[in-house]
Amino acid sequence: MQIVVLAGGVGGSRFVRGVRSAYPGAEVTVIGNTADDITLHGLRICPDLDTMTYALAGAIDPERGWGLADEGWKVMAELQAHQAEPTWFNLGDRDIATHLIRTQMLAAGYPLSEVTRALAQRWLGADSPVTLLPMSEDRVETHVRIRDEHSPSGQRVVHFQEFWVRLHAEPPVLGVVQVGIDEARPAAGVLETIAAADLVLVAPSNPVVSIGPILAVPGIRDAVRAAPAPVIGFSGILSGAPVLGMADKLLPAIGVEVDAAAVGLHYGSRHADGVLDRWVVDSDDAASLARLHRGGLDALAHPLLMTTPELTAAFIRAAVDHTPGDDALAS
Ligand code: GDP
Ligand code: CA
Repeated sequence: MQIVVLAGGVGGSRFVRGVRSAYPGAEVTVIGNTADDITLHGLRICPDLDTMTYALAGAIDPERGWGLADEGWKVMAELQAHQAEPTWFNLGDRDIATHLIRTQMLAAGYPLSEVTRALAQRWLGADSPVTLLPMSEDRVETHVRIRDEHSPSGQRVVHFQEFWVRLHAEPPVLGVVQVGIDEARPAAGVLETIAAADLVLVAPSNPVVSIGPILAVPGIRDAVRAAPAPVIGFSGILSGAPVLGMADKLLPAIGVEVDAAAVGLHYGSRHADGVLDRWVVDSDDAASLARLHRGGLDALAHPLLMTTPELTAAFIRAAVDHTPGDDALAS
């Protein structure tokens, strides 16, 4: 069984661990978001790809929820002593090794997919059942247009990382732009893997800055629409709020309500112009099933907290095994 998962970082990696638990024998290909990527201190950093790799390796720091366990911060402290900007983005000593290797390989001409494979090999081994592909080899970066009373125009554009890490998603958001998306091409293997999949899953990752950019790479959305496999998506919005992160600040800026059904309808049904066959909402959002059905989506409600891989696996299996029209049983 070949499973393709579209995914971002923290939420995406929890989901993929659930996929592994639900289908231990399956070959899983993760198409990861690279629109969070940024260059800092001369290092190319791919936060979502690294979160995925570290999490699948069981090496993620459990308290922080991102970055490596057993991490040190000596390089960061030294950069701060130099007042080397930016000082707001934390880079652990062990994590920096990842970025050094990536930066060197990219400079030597390797495409990001090869770099990602090499880094995954160190963490997951050569015969890992999970393959991680970046959505694109090309540079795409999410920028956020925020309100800023101090600038003459009353607004300012910042990199997504500055918005999230430095500004804590506090300034009002006026717009979201994926710089470079129109010229980006799907990474090697992405379209072929989607076409060959037995199952395509859209993780409950951020719809605006994780899943949005993946689907916006020209060719990927069409490949998902044309996939022979069922396409099932999962809501990261539960009872009108994201479980973590800043999706609630970004969704209104793209005209989507912070609501599980609204996100499903935003992705849309493959019977219309969308990408999904089925959308899964949390049990507490079961009242929105009728709205989803009216929008042409097969939908079910199930507890969606990814507290453990086993609980995550349970809702993934329930979604895959769901019989359309059988909502009463599932919820
Ligand atoms: P990021 O790249 O690290 O921001 O992570 P993702 O984009 O992959 O995932 C972030 C999204 O995952 C957020 O919008 C969360 O609401 C969602 N999320 C996090 N934990 C859970 C959970 O336990 N259940 C569900 N359904 N969604 C979750
Ligand atoms: Ca991310």
